[in-house]
Amino acid sequence: MMPPARETLATPALETLVSPTKPRRKRPIYSHSRLSSFEDCPKKFHYRYVLKIPSDTDGIEGFVGKRVHEVLERLYGAVGRGHVPSHAQLIHRYRTLWDESYDAERVRIVRVENPPEFYRELGERCLTNYYRNHYPFDGDETVGIEHRVAFPLDDSNDYRIQGFIDRIVRASDSVLEIHDYKTGARVPSQRSLDSDRQLALYEIGVRREMNVTGPIRLIWHYLQRDQTRVSTRTSDQLVDLRGKTIELIDRIHAEEAWEPKTGPLCGWCEYQDRCPAKGGTDSLEIAAAPSEPTPPAESPRSAAKPPTGQLSFL
Ligand code: SF4
Repeated sequence: MMPPARETLATPALETLVSPTKPRRKRPIYSHSRLSSFEDCPKKFHYRYVLKIPSDTDGIEGFVGKRVHEVLERLYGAVGRGHVPSHAQLIHRYRTLWDESYDAERVRIVRVENPPEFYRELGERCLTNYYRNHYPFDGDETVGIEHRVAFPLDDSNDYRIQGFIDRIVRASDSVLEIHDYKTGARVPSQRSLDSDRQLALYEIGVRREMNVTGPIRLIWHYLQRDQTRVSTRTSDQLVDLRGKTIELIDRIHAEEAWEPKTGPLCGWCEYQDRCPAKGGTDSLEIAAAPSEPTPPAESPRSAAKPPTGQLSFL
């Protein structure tokens, strides 16, 4: 249940972020990844979120990321119950989850020169790096794991955002931290992270939900590269982010062309076969499709099977 509205950020008032000429029709709830999808390619956004054309494949990179997140979620769950799993147990749990979930028909490998084992070992390396750096996991206090935040950007509740925070932490200096695990190879520049939208949006949600007025640190764990990055936001930066995000949602809401935006990401796009920019043809079922994006009910990672067997604490 969302707590009563409480403004913790600096002026300007939220009302001023929304044009009075805009229609007051309520928008669907958005997430950072949904907003990014539109920025990456409006055509893909249209297929996925407006037409809701189901995808029958998952990229292997996303598959690895989900398994690593599941294991870290279970790890901190176990730590919270007073059990610190061994590294061997952690890797065993990862391999078990992989075997239970991997479907060669569904998981798509774009870089075909890499076999599935390459990606499996990559996930193990991510977990090993994290485990080595944080064992015995007593350097801070976990406040939330896979925590859902959902909040409005404006006072009228027209522009809503949701997200799932990998881990919320009370650090040893009492500062609240928002942690995010990344399994990709690329580590963005500090400048890029200082203007990153995802964790800053989460900060807005956490401040509202937990009534935080003090400092909050944003922390990224680039597990594959074994690197950590930290950033913070000022109140003015968060207000600016709210305004820019509202503008983007308005752009999406007003979009009609849904133009393809080709680029390197096309190789990972599940709609290449139908995309006209890639030689496909939009199929007829599009005409009958619904017109409004709708949010997922829960985190895709929360659907993990309950633990079984000798490693049940993990
Ligand atoms: S193939 Fe490329 S241009 Fe076409 S929808 Fe996918 S990402 Fe967009």
